[in-house]
Amino acid sequence: MHDIGASLSPIDGPLPRTEEVIAARVKALESILIEKGVITTDVIDRVADLYEKQVGPQIGAKIVARAWTEPDFKARLVANATDACREMGFGGMQGEDMTVVENTDEVHHVIVCTLCSCYPWPVLGLPPNWYKHPAYRSRVVREPRVVLREFGLEIPLSREIRVWDSSAELRYWVLPQRPEGTEGLSADELQALVTRDSMIGVGVPLSPDKATVGSTS
Ligand code: FE
Repeated sequence: MHDIGASLSPIDGPLPRTEEVIAARVKALESILIEKGVITTDVIDRVADLYEKQVGPQIGAKIVARAWTEPDFKARLVANATDACREMGFGGMQGEDMTVVENTDEVHHVIVCTLCSCYPWPVLGLPPNWYKHPAYRSRVVREPRVVLREFGLEIPLSREIRVWDSSAELRYWVLPQRPEGTEGLSADELQALVTRDSMIGVGVPLSPDKATVGSTS
């Protein structure tokens, strides 16, 4: 009998792969692509810089803060997130079609990609590792309340939980509820309360007394 395992190099070991294995694989791919003239190191540096410093959950947080402070904008965001984000200059690759789902007292939304790891890059940056993990992708659908509890989020039984399955065609993200006690805050101050996890639906925004400036991830 053919042993599939025997044909795999050590780099194809069991999931989840360690950071060292992933880094080695990325380095190998990068070298081959450069060697074959498909990409240049300059391109790689620019993309890495873009996702390290410019694109990230602080963009989604900025959009959420605006939605909290401008009802007209919120209506546009919920009606057509792609257009509303474009209006603010955000969009593009991996965010061509986005839908924002709004958390309320009645319903709590959470996002996943059951197939792989589809995620709205232009507003949330790159997905966290756990988002790509098979355990999250399967369990959040079957037992969302239990999984959210593991994230430290207790959703009251009276509140419905809706799980949205993102795909390459349509990527969801969450408009979290504005925390109480934030009536006097500016949009910039509100932005600092919006965490990445709150826009995935596995967390909620920080409360104003716990916030530190820039804590958006
Ligand atoms: Fe996917």
